Parts: sequence; structure tokens; C-alpha cells
Amino acid sequence: MSIHDRTVSLVTGGAGFLGSHLCERLLDRGDEVICADNFFTGTRRNVEHLIGHPRFELIRHDVTFPLYVEVDEIYNFACPASPVHYQHDPVQTTKTSVHGAINMLGLAKRVGAKILQASTSEVYGDPKVHPQREDYWGHVNPHGIRSCYDEGKRCAETLFFDYHRQHQLRIKVMRIFNTYGPRMHPNDGRVVSNFIVQALRGEPITLYGEGLQTRSFQYVDDLMDGCLRLMGTGDAVTGPMNIGNPVELTIRELALAVLRLTGSKSALVYRPLPQDDPMQRCPDITLARETLGWAPRVALEQGLERTIEYFDRLLGRPAAPEHA
Ligand code: NAD
Ligand code: UDP
Ligand code: UDP
Repeated sequence: MSIHDRTVSLVTGGAGFLGSHLCERLLDRGDEVICADNFFTGTRRNVEHLIGHPRFELIRHDVTFPLYVEVDEIYNFACPASPVHYQHDPVQTTKTSVHGAINMLGLAKRVGAKILQASTSEVYGDPKVHPQREDYWGHVNPHGIRSCYDEGKRCAETLFFDYHRQHQLRIKVMRIFNTYGPRMHPNDGRVVSNFIVQALRGEPITLYGEGLQTRSFQYVDDLMDGCLRLMGTGDAVTGPMNIGNPVELTIRELALAVLRLTGSKSALVYRPLPQDDPMQRCPDITLARETLGWAPRVALEQGLERTIEYFDRLLGRPAAPEHA
């Protein structure tokens, strides 16, 4: 706690899609916020509306190096999240998850801070148990092209639980399922941003494989509610805890929803399915419901409309009449 009697929170990866929303939410509740980011996939633009805020500080920092600051809470979100980005420099991706976790845990240990890890549904890999509960150990290829991300995140979870057992750190491990919303990177190759950008530009919608693989998409505001509730729980609650929207749909169904909501005439085209692409994914959120009293509130259609509006503005087009 600073002498100003406020919670001082550190958000690593705070200039990214999710991190920028989190910085905003923490400022709204009155925290002093330090945003640390190396701008690999995030940008200053994502937080430019916060720069100049008296309780906000942005620092360029790579979490694979030590960081010495005095904070009460740490939200460790630094890590490229889209397959295109995390496969660009896979060694750096693993280092970010593993060395980044060690440094942030070392920091938490030195200052006695509570620390939350942005883990992922990717720890379940291509799951053989459906929907996924937290006690499922997963089905992950240790040496494929997605492994730098999946295994890096799994190792980070291991480090969190070992620092908890060995050094009594107060930890929270949040397994985030596919999340979308404003400030997603338009070129990061993730399905929601790809489909919306393609639809708005009238380009073909690229379905990988037959588009029959499933995902469950959560709107960013719901994730933020879950995240803050999880961090607010007592020390006995460590997770891992799934935070996601259990409404599951095929990628083809998502494409059709985007076409309908944008009014686009884009054609559907089929491309090869990337290696190790999970065939199904859906969270069991019983634990979050019972522990946090949390459940997602934003329906897919509502969330997609808000995201389409964002990309409409970003791409410099006037909003389509139905979203005006
Ligand atoms: P993002 O790429 O927009 O944000 C990641 C941020 O981390 C960027 O600002 C990037 O510059 C920063 N970063 C990357 N490497 C860094 C390093 N070595 N040091 C400092 N900063 C670094 O992605 P996002 O969707 O906002 O994801 C944020 C976190 O949430 C990630 O840890 C990701 O694994 C996790 N997550 C996201 C999703 C999702 O659907 N968006 C799902 C599961 C987990
Ligand atoms: N660390 C950090 N900030 C701190 C304290 C530690 O970045 O305020 C880093 C430090 O570089 C170390 C890592 O966290 O490598 C792990 O710290 P820990 O105390 O667990 O291990 P040790 O310093 O004994 O290796
Ligand atoms: N996908 C697709 N077309 C695209 C981008 C992605 O069909 O243009 C598929 C991808 O193969 C995967 C799903 O959509 O099955 C979700 O992909 P994303 O990269 O968004 O997330 P992740 O695979 O990490 O869940």
C-alpha cells in the first residue's frame, strides 16, 4: 500500500487487448496503476486515453528481465496470445511465460503482493474431456507449433503453485477462454478479428478446416468482472479457475453470425486446418459460479455488435446503418 492509502496495482502486458481494459477497470475503482509492456503486440494507442491520468504510469519493460517496483497486486498478462504472434518468435514466447512468471513471482515474494496469472484454456490442449473442468489435466503436444504457448503457460501455472506452497505466496490462477472485444489487434489472425475485418472489407471469410471445430467466446467485460472478483477472494482461493462463456459454437456458425450482423456479402472460403488446432473447447464454469457468484452476461450477438462498431471505426468506415 502506498502512503496515499491506495492499492498499487501492476499490470504486465497492460498495453495489450485485455491488459488495457484491466488498467481502465483498476483506475475506475481507485487504484494506482503501473502498466508494464514491451509493446511486442500491444501499443501505446490502447492506453493513450489513460496517459496523463494522475494515477496511471506506463513503463516500457520486458518481463523476462527483473522489475523492481513497490506494489500490492500484480496481474501478469504479458504474453502474445494469438497463434500468429506467439509462433513468430516461439523461444521468446516460452521465455515470456516462464522467465516472466519467475520475475513477477520473485517481485510478489519480495513485496508480499498478491499475484494473478492470466492462464489459458490452452492448458487443456486438444481436450478429450468436454466441457473442460479445472481438474482435467489436458491433452497437450509438448513439441508442436502451439507448444511454446501451451507448455509455457502450463509451466507458469506450476511456478505459481510452487511459489504458493514453498513461499506462501497469495496466488490466483485464472484460465481464460477465448475472449474478444474492442482493442483486439486487427491483424493478429484470431478468428473474431479476422472474420469481422474480412466481412467489413468484403473479403472472403477464411474458415480453417471445415469450420466444424468449436470455441466458446466471451466478451471482454465479462472477463474483467471475473478477473476482479477472483482477485478479491480470500487467500484460500487460488484457482485454477475457468473464466469463459459456456455458449459453444462452431467456427462456421460464428462466420454466419458475423455475416448477418455486418450485412456483408463476403463469401466463405476454406483453408487448411493449422497443426494441433483443438477441435472443441467449452468451459465448465461451475467453480466460478459457486466461488465468485459470477457468470457471463453479454450475449454473443451483443458483444459482436460492439466489436464490429469498434472495427468499423478503426478501419475508417462509417458505421453500417444497422449499427449507427
Ligand atoms: P495481446 O497480445 O493483446 O496482449 C499481450 C500484451 O503483452 C501485449 O501488450 C504485449 O506487448 C505484451 N508482452 C508480450 N511479451 C511481453 C514481454 N516479454 N514483456 C512485457 N510485455 C510483453 O493479447 P491479449 O489477448 O490481451 O492477452 C493477454 C493475456 O491473456 C496473455 O497472457 C494471454 O495468454 C492471456 N489470454 C488471452 C486470451 C484471449 O482470448 N484474448 C485467452 C486466454 C489467455
Ligand atoms: N525479482 C524481480 N523483482 C523483485 C524481486 C525479484 O524481478 O522485486 C526477480 C529476480 O530477478 C529473480 C526472480 O525474481 O531472478 C525470482 O526471485 P526469487 O526471490 O524467487 O529467486 P532468487 O532471487 O532467489 O533467484
Ligand atoms: N480460425 C479460422 N479462420 C481464421 C482464424 C481462425 O477458421 O481466419 C479458426 C482456428 O483454426 C481455430 C479457431 O478459429 O480453430 C479459433 O482460432 P483463434 O486463433 O482465434 O483461437 P485459438 O485457436 O487459440 O482458440
